[in-house]
Amino acid sequence: MPTETTRTRVLAAGHRLTPQRDLIAQVLEADARPRTAQELWVAVREVAPGVGRATVFRTLDALVAAGVARRLTLPSRRTAYVGCSAHHHHHFVCQQCGAVAELPEGEVNPLLRQLERSRGFQVDHARLDFYGTCAACLAVAPPGP
Ligand SMILES: [Zn+2]
Ligand SMILES: [Zn+2]
Repeated sequence: MPTETTRTRVLAAGHRLTPQRDLIAQVLEADARPRTAQELWVAVREVAPGVGRATVFRTLDALVAAGVARRLTLPSRRTAYVGCSAHHHHHFVCQQCGAVAELPEGEVNPLLRQLERSRGFQVDHARLDFYGTCAACLAVAPPGP
């Protein structure tokens, strides 16, 4: 089975994949950490100095619309972007090192079903981002008393 690349996913979502979009998607995928649009612009300019800030910002919106990137609100209230796999999932975001781990939908669904029963609310769609400290950071510096 062929690997589903960002390229095919963007195209399948009906979005044009310009060389600039392709490049920005690659920059996003190269790093598992969320990065602000400004940080991504700086990274993109290292490869393609001619790409403007507005292009990067517009492209990020397009990648989010195509489902290959997600917008996260960091604890600092800044908006950041992270490259995402195709299947529906949630996130763990480490506030120490910035690592983002995908949390498969299946691990969250039992909790959702329980909430639906207790609250009498049918959940059609959920997007959960958990902020905290990852296992690697906990191992280095356990939380104090
Ligand atoms: Zn994701
Ligand atoms: Zn961490």
